[in-house]
Amino acid sequence: MRCPFCGNVDTQVKDSRPAEDHVSIRRRRFCPACGGRFTTYERVQLRDLVVVKSTGRREDFDRDKMGRSVRIAMQKRPIEPERIDQLISGIVRRLESLGETDIPSKVIGEIVMETLARIDTVAYVRFASVYKNFQAADDFDKFVSELRPDQKDDA
Ligand SMILES: [Zn+2]
Repeated sequence: MRCPFCGNVDTQVKDSRPAEDHVSIRRRRFCPACGGRFTTYERVQLRDLVVVKSTGRREDFDRDKMGRSVRIAMQKRPIEPERIDQLISGIVRRLESLGETDIPSKVIGEIVMETLARIDTVAYVRFASVYKNFQAADDFDKFVSELRPDQKDDA
């Protein structure tokens, strides 16, 4: 693994352990060339998924982006972080098991909504309320920025 600080390719693994979600391994790495320390995550990837936007543009599926949108929707809800990790993994497994490499962004949004609807109504409503814009914007970055939990809180 190349050092992100100096570019040296000969870095060492200092420590490996399962990450919180138990579907990934967290490795602490050390670069003997510059003394830099960094962390990598290793996870099983059944297939490389590609998101196809409504414009026809394709981009690699980014699990972290999708996960971020789910976490924001779940913010301040009485749900264990570990449960949310499992939920995100479950969504990814569903996407992978569709049997297609190319997945329309719309399908991803629908699967996320279905999953949230089963777990938590408030999180579902938060997600669904920006879903229309999401379809128009068709962009997870924009989606995440629109999915602001603060205003619609039940407090
Ligand atoms: Zn280095």
